[in-house]
Amino acid sequence: MNAGHNAAPLPPGMQSHFDTVVARNPGEREFHQAVYEVMQSLAPVEEARPEYSQWSILKRICEPERQIIFRVPWVADDGEVQINRGFRVEFNSALGPYKGGLRFHPSVNLSIIKFLGFEQVFKNALTGMPIGGGKGGSDFDPKGRSDAEIMRFCQSFMTELYRHIGEYTDVPAGDIGVGGREIGYLFGQYKRITNRYEAGVLSGKGLTWGGSLVRTEATGYGTVFFAQSMLKEKGQDFGGKKVVVSGSGNVAIYAVEKLHQLGATVIAVSDSNGYVVDEAGIDVELLKDIKEVRRERLTAYVDARGGNARHVTDGSIWDVPCDVALPCATQNELEEIHAKQLVANGVQLVAEGANMPCTPAAVALFQSAGVAYAPGKASNAGGVATSALEMQQNASRDSWEFDETEEKLEEIMTHIHERCLTTAEEFGDPGNYVTGANLAGYLKVADAMVSMGVI
Ligand code: NDP
Repeated sequence: MNAGHNAAPLPPGMQSHFDTVVARNPGEREFHQAVYEVMQSLAPVEEARPEYSQWSILKRICEPERQIIFRVPWVADDGEVQINRGFRVEFNSALGPYKGGLRFHPSVNLSIIKFLGFEQVFKNALTGMPIGGGKGGSDFDPKGRSDAEIMRFCQSFMTELYRHIGEYTDVPAGDIGVGGREIGYLFGQYKRITNRYEAGVLSGKGLTWGGSLVRTEATGYGTVFFAQSMLKEKGQDFGGKKVVVSGSGNVAIYAVEKLHQLGATVIAVSDSNGYVVDEAGIDVELLKDIKEVRRERLTAYVDARGGNARHVTDGSIWDVPCDVALPCATQNELEEIHAKQLVANGVQLVAEGANMPCTPAAVALFQSAGVAYAPGKASNAGGVATSALEMQQNASRDSWEFDETEEKLEEIMTHIHERCLTTAEEFGDPGNYVTGANLAGYLKVADAMVSMGVI
């Protein structure tokens, strides 16, 4: 069995491990895919570190330490009682408290939360910071809900979640559908229930109550910093490059902002209803107003830009010719057919802002075509890294300036980039960011697990 999406076969010795994961987690397609992708890189490490198999590291790393599923009842504005399902998967705490976002989206299920939690373990290890990996969320759909409904939902969600989290236990943040507004309502309810102002329990907080400058921008900026290091390896920079960024949420918006600051032109962004092409360059202030303030659809962007931009509802954003593509919307949004089109149109670099947006077949195609490709667990790690910086500021009751925090973010991303390349080289696969990211993350977590014994 493989992970679907035409994935390449696993190296010898890994298939039986993968079959066990599939048998123990039936039907969890996205989780299987994330495990498969990591297992494709692991053979050289299992050979080089015999103690890993002696301590069953691979089997243990694929099994979450704790999986919590709970009912979230709340009352809609029309008086009807709504029932959603809440999740928190505390995947691995070898390096620190569980850390990872909460996603509110109707597609959320246990498989999606587990794939995200699994990826998070290695991503967090790559940042070099003392954080374990976890992820959570709900199948709640915030679209079209009033502020009061969002607040009641967040309060009910936290009324269960609060028992499982804490500064030294598990520190959630935002993800799809969870931004500053939701983190505010969640923190308020946590504070009320526990009667403690425990700022370090959540990250992504507001700037006047424990949040960190640059956290909002961090994932998008970080992805662009990582891509900049990739370009530097090729002796290039962003000056004059045409870029396509999918999504128009938190990650996409700040990727666009940083790309423009570095001299690139972003010509297209998307949401789940279609995409917008604006050859003059996406107006990022307008995009922020539409998505962050008015919470409207991308058609409002075209209305505001008049004849300068067009909205497209058929085909794919990946049909738009570009030098650099940054998928920043959601998992499996860039399939083999899209990769073929991008390669035919001359794309040179793909860096993931979203988690697992490229299918395995798309990744294989980029790699065989010589397109520089970075997996999200490396290139989008800037968000969680800045969350860890927020935790540092909370612990020391300090707050840093924007420039200082952004500098730290850039340093972290440069360091992750270096670590990917040196690890890939060390294990005989020079220049392969997938091998580098998987192995550098895995080694760090596995070594800590070996030190701590069978727990
Ligand atoms: P947001 O909710 O702010 O934005 C998500 C964007 O993606 C929206 O434009 C949304 O469009 C689009 N989208 C979501 N689902 C789909 C879908 N099924 N098909 C097409 N478009 C879709 O989320 P973020 O920007 O925070 O997250 C985007 C990605 O980045 C996710 O994969 C997330 O896990 C990852 N990520 C986020 C981090 C963060 O700090 N926020 C950190 C690291 C990774 P619409 O509004 O129409 O739904």
